[in-house]
Formats: sequence, C-alpha cells, structure tokens
Amino acid sequence: MVVGDVTTGTEVLVIGAGPGGYVAAIRAAQNGLDTTLVDRDAYGGTCLNYGCIPSKALISATDVAHDAGNATEMGVHADPVIHTDEMQEWKEGVVDQLTGGVEKLCKANGVNLIEGEATFVDDSTARIAHGGDGQGSESIEFEHAIIATGSRPIQVPGFEFEHDPIWSSRDALDVEEPPEDLLVVGAGYIGMELSTVFAKMGVDVTVVEMLDGILPGYEDDVSRPVKKRADELGIEFNFGEVASEWEETGEGVVVTTEDEDGNESTYDAQKVLVAVGRQPVSDSLDPEAAGVEVDENGFIHTDDQARTNVDNIFAVGDVAGEPMLAHKASKEGIVAAEVIAGEPAALDQQAIPAAVFTDPEIATVGMTDEETEEAGFTPNVGEFPFRASGRALSTGESEGFVRIVAEEEAGFVLGAQIVGPEASELIAECALAIEMGATLEDVASTVHTHPTLAEAVMEAAENADDQAIHTLNR
Ligand SMILES: Cc1cc2nc3c(=O)[nH]c(=O)nc-3n(C[C@H](O)[C@H](O)[C@H](O)COP(=O)(O)OP(=O)(O)OC[C@H]3O[C@@H](n4cnc5c(N)ncnc54)[C@H](O)[C@@H]3O)c2cc1C
Repeated sequence: MVVGDVTTGTEVLVIGAGPGGYVAAIRAAQNGLDTTLVDRDAYGGTCLNYGCIPSKALISATDVAHDAGNATEMGVHADPVIHTDEMQEWKEGVVDQLTGGVEKLCKANGVNLIEGEATFVDDSTARIAHGGDGQGSESIEFEHAIIATGSRPIQVPGFEFEHDPIWSSRDALDVEEPPEDLLVVGAGYIGMELSTVFAKMGVDVTVVEMLDGILPGYEDDVSRPVKKRADELGIEFNFGEVASEWEETGEGVVVTTEDEDGNESTYDAQKVLVAVGRQPVSDSLDPEAAGVEVDENGFIHTDDQARTNVDNIFAVGDVAGEPMLAHKASKEGIVAAEVIAGEPAALDQQAIPAAVFTDPEIATVGMTDEETEEAGFTPNVGEFPFRASGRALSTGESEGFVRIVAEEEAGFVLGAQIVGPEASELIAECALAIEMGATLEDVASTVHTHPTLAEAVMEAAENADDQAIHTLNR
C-alpha cells in the first residue's frame, strides 16, 4: 500500500545528519526554532559511520599492536596478534555509541527526526521519500533550509566500487579479513591513513600516486617524516603513475598504470583501494528546483554566513566546498543556525585546523611562512624539534617538529605546522592563538606543564624571538 502524501511545516529543515547537519539542527532547536532533520541513511553521516571515527578507531587499534610489537628498546617484548573480526566489533561499538548519542541529543533538544531522502520542490517545499516499497513520501514546507548533504568518494573510470576487488574507503574500513597485498590508488590523507593501518596489520601495501609525492598541499619538510615512517613500514610508493585498467587473475587482480610518457607498469594485488578524493553530493537533492546554484563540480557556494544565492537556504559542510573536514562542517552548521535565529554569526576561515592521522601525525592551521609573505607580512618563524622534548623522548616518538609562524612587527601568530606525536591535539593551542589574536610573546609566556608535548609549542614561539632554552636559536 502506498501511503498518501501528507504535508507538514517546519521553521528550519536540515537535510543531512552528518556533523554539519546534526550540529546545525541541535543549535537551531536550542535557539527556539522548530527544527526538522532528515537523513536517508544514518545519524552522524560519513564522519561517524564511514569516515573520521571508524578510521581513527582502526588507526588506534593497529597502533597499539604495532607499538607493542616494536618496543624492545623500552624493554618490552611482545608479539601481538590482530584478530580483525574482534577489532571490527570494537570499532562498530564505538560507532554505535556515537551515532546513538547523536540521535538521543537531537531528540533531547526537541529536533524532529525523519528518515528519508529529501528533494526540493521549490524554495519553500521539499519532498521526503521514505524509501522501500509502500512507505510513501511526505512534503515539508519550510521557512529556512540548511543543505548538509556531504560528499562521496570520487570514482576512477573503470575502477567503479561495485566490483568486489575495488574498494572505497568505506569498504576498506569494514574489512573482516585483510588481504595479503593491497594496492592503494592515491596518496592523499585518506590513502595514507589507510595504507598505514593495513601495513600495521601486516598487509603488503603498494601505493600509486599520479603526483610526485605524498600528501599534496603539505610542505615537503612536513610530509617527509610520514614518508620516512611509511618506508620503514614497508609501504612501496610509485609516483607519477595513473591507474588505467585492471583485470581479474586467479588470486586477485593485476592493475595497469601509465606514466605521463605512456609507459605502463603492472601491479598484482588481492584488493585495490581507490582513494583519490571526494566530491559533493548535491545531485539527488535537485537544488535547482529551489533556485540554488550549483557549480560544475557539484559544490554549492555560500557567503561567510553559510547562505546560498537563495536567501532562506543555507549550505554547510562538504557540499559547500573545501576544506572537506568534519569540524569545518560543524562550525558552518552553527553559523547557519545562528544566522537563521537572527544572530550576527560568521565563519572565520583563518583558523580552521586540519589534521592527518598518519604515523607521525600532521596538523596545520592558518598560514605557512610563504603564505604569510604572499599576504604582505614579514614572517617571523620559530621551530622546535621533538627530539629536544623530554616528553617526546620518553614516549619513544621524537620524530618531527612544531613550527609557528607570526608576523614580525607586532608578533601576531598567523599559522603553525606540526608533524610529530599528538600533532592533532597540539594544533588546538595554535588555532586558539590565531583566533584570539595572540602574539608569540603570549604563547611563550604562558606556563606549560612539564613534561608535555605542548611545551614544544611554547619553545617554538620562544625560538622565533631567539629566546628558546632547549634548542639553539638560529
Ligand atoms: C575515511 C575518511 C576519513 C575521514 N577522516 C576525517 C578526519 O579525521 N577529520 C575530519 O575532519 N574529517 C574527516 N573526514 C571527512 C569528514 O567525514 C567529512 O568532512 C564530514 O563527514 C562532512 O560532514 P557533512 O555533514 O558535510 O556531510 P556527511 O558527513 O557526508 O553527511 C551527509 C549526510 O547527508 C545525507 N544525505 C545526502 N543527501 C541526502 C538527501 N537528499 N536527503 C537526505 N539525506 C541526505 C547522507 O546520508 C549523510 O548522512 C574523513 C572522511 C573519510 C571518508
């Protein structure tokens, strides 16, 4: 039986329950707005179900095994065995706890939750298809809409994910039985994080990348320690090659790649992980029906208040463009909800940090030395190597450094690049410094707990002004 079309109304319709959408919905409800959140899949979106959280769970679990098995220097002798099925069960538990929490938080804040796929009818109406035979659809009239439909992995022609040996990141994160060998196409952050996970599971990992190095967009000295560790883990890299075709063999696949001169190479692998980036999900939503403009790549452009070209429709998160990161999505979600509630909110793009959870980790925020110059400032740069940090040495992880970039005149902190242990945590202090308009002196004169990795941020700030105690000032 097909259920008839009913029409309801809401002040704010949020489409997509990822970190952009659910955060926007909760804040809108907190602001007293009647809010409806619709998702066609799962609470928490890509981040909680198929992205940040499951990948970080597997990274932590394989780190535990790898570190325990490589600590003889510390007098620890162990030969850890990974039971992938149990690791998956644990990872699923983490995901379930968080997605369940999102649902509870939404309900507790009074957000109306609807399962289904939303499509715009016009700039004040959306149709929600509930999916499955006979479940019907409903129409929702809204005063404001927030589009938070996220992104999906880019498919390489010929390497579509419906073929079993070809994996998306989502397939790789659900693996019950690791392959003996894995070919990874793409050395961006997702390719590098997952290559490290599989290498630490004992899988033979080969990476092919069309550019001439890993982690495009990061400075050479920042990505170098990650490449060095990946080499030590036995990951094999082939740069300047594009995957062109694959064929099934008895035991797996043989993948052919081509370099820019047309020279071909072949690689045998049991599975192929394609991780060449992500693209926005805006097609199924039919934003054009509401008058919302979409660019040729599917992104919806917004102003610094997350507003699209249509006054009452906002877009947040991956669908609204780079950087495609969960915390950027959430911040935009909050801005959209505040603006709808009449608050003067706006997103400050200056201090959005980014982290890569490789071994060692990378984290950056704000400007590099070069970008500071391009922006018309004279940079004042300080660095502190983790090999001079008592805490880093005492954890056995002393690769990398903290670099802090300020402008010379008044000393305002403009950026930071960190590669090393807990870089993803340490970057928060630098982001706060930029956000608050702190100077190098503010960071340097803040008393930091000893012995901690955070002291490296303080020492880098001191180094910029030739005041570092535990490294030579140059
Ligand atoms: C393997 C991996 C690791 C990652 N690691 C990190 C990390 O460490 N840190 C980080 O910051 N980011 C990370 N990311 C990126 C992060 O997941 C995204 O930036 C984030 O999820 C974007 O949030 P969003 O709300 O914009 O969209 P999403 O999380 O993609 O959510 C969009 C939601 O919209 C729903 N939807 C789409 N269309 C419709 C429709 N028409 N009707 C109803 N519902 C719809 C979808 O079902 C989905 O639930 C990772 C991504 C991957 C794949």
